[in-house]
Amino acid sequence: MTGIPDLEARRASQQKRIRIMLDAMRAEDQAKLKGGESAVAWVKEEQCIGCDQCTIVCDDDAIELYDTPLASPIMDIDVNRKARIIRDECTGCQLCVLACPTDAILMIDR
Ligand code: SF4
Ligand code: SF4
Repeated sequence: MTGIPDLEARRASQQKRIRIMLDAMRAEDQAKLKGGESAVAWVKEEQCIGCDQCTIVCDDDAIELYDTPLASPIMDIDVNRKARIIRDECTGCQLCVLACPTDAILMIDR
């Protein structure tokens, strides 16, 4: 019978395998993005859900969240948040693009 130590070892090995796979996918995605001094991040407002992930990963304080009226009249919420890039602060590092769960951020020419 499979014991707890076996399951834990299997779990750790799977975690490692998944981590390696995700890192590889991430490196591939990052290689395709524009970046550096000639690029700046840009938020597609309609895809932003205000989740705050991009502001957490941005080391340069180049993203702020602002309140905006929610588009849907069926939800009883007065405001919704969206992210916006502070262009002068953005270093083009691409981290926010990789962190955004809804693909709301693009890298564009500065
Ligand atoms: S991570 Fe993406 S969805 Fe979340 S606040 Fe930033 S831009 Fe919006
Ligand atoms: S590209 Fe880098 S510096 Fe620019 S907003 Fe995104 S995380 Fe911040």
